[in-house]
Amino acid sequence: MTESESQRVVRPTLRCLIADLGQEVGPPELRAALRTATEDMAADATYLLPCVLTDATHLVLDKANLIATDDATNRERIETITDRFAIKVKTSDRRAALWLDEAGVWWLLAAGRRKDDGPGDFYRELERFSEDSTPIAPSAADARYLRLEVAFAEECESERAANGLVLGALLAAASAPGTQAEVTVFGASVSISIVPDDDGLAVLELSWEFVQFDDQDRFPMDVLAMVPGKDNLDLWDYLPPRKDTDSPHAWFTYVPQEWVDHLATTAELDDLLATVEDWSPPNPSSDGSEHFSHRARASVVMLAYVTGIEIVGLCGARVVAHRDYEKFPVCPKCEESLALLRQLGRPEAQA
Ligand SMILES: [Zn+2]
Repeated sequence: MTESESQRVVRPTLRCLIADLGQEVGPPELRAALRTATEDMAADATYLLPCVLTDATHLVLDKANLIATDDATNRERIETITDRFAIKVKTSDRRAALWLDEAGVWWLLAAGRRKDDGPGDFYRELERFSEDSTPIAPSAADARYLRLEVAFAEECESERAANGLVLGALLAAASAPGTQAEVTVFGASVSISIVPDDDGLAVLELSWEFVQFDDQDRFPMDVLAMVPGKDNLDLWDYLPPRKDTDSPHAWFTYVPQEWVDHLATTAELDDLLATVEDWSPPNPSSDGSEHFSHRARASVVMLAYVTGIEIVGLCGARVVAHRDYEKFPVCPKCEESLALLRQLGRPEAQA
């Protein structure tokens, strides 16, 4: 993300977006969605376009963002509009009206073309709204859509935070088999334990106690799906209470011992890399690093699972974390680095 892209604050009103900018707007997925946006919004009150409206791109929006984010810029009032301080946006032959509302939200009210004061000239057209610019002002629908966008962003953020907490508890449980790792997500207290079983398998158990009844809609699916490689409910079984003190909300699945070792090593790496100074990854081999399962520290692995971003493995290879890593053999370079780190971090253990 470049500096200018991170500074986008101007939202086109829905009317301006659909009627004035329409098929000139980017990104392409937004432009495509705009063709049916009016119908889609009428049919579904929670309909959201494919990107937040401040990310919509267009010549006048790019210029409007520059005006809005640079306090030193000359903000020229559109004099014909008398009932609000609308600002001129001029770039090539495009013209638009920008406005800052009382809540601090920047709106692109309308856009058009300069036609040298002739018929259809943008600022001349605006004279219709001289006394009353309500028809181009943000409407109740714009306010509602903005609230929906904010709520959705908060929802995604809370989902990511909960996912990170669950993964952290999984790592703790894998590091200490047989013990309970506790975490509070979506208003429930969640317990996670991993108990080694026979035949190289382990029983992974998740149970929870609700604090408030309202929070139950996330369970079990949303929470079980946060377990790497186990995001399908079919892989889980309900566990009836064995004694009175057991949670009535318990689920279990079997995981291979390698899965447990992988998580335990990931957690261990945080410790090792914290104690070993000046360790940096060796140069990665370029040959088929995507066919190996790599080792990376817990904080990085969590970030990778939650956001899907590319991370750097212990061997230095850049990889996107996948949840079905068990299909791939562990990267020999990562294993080498791990052995070295263990030697460096725990010299007494090698004696
Ligand atoms: Zn590796």
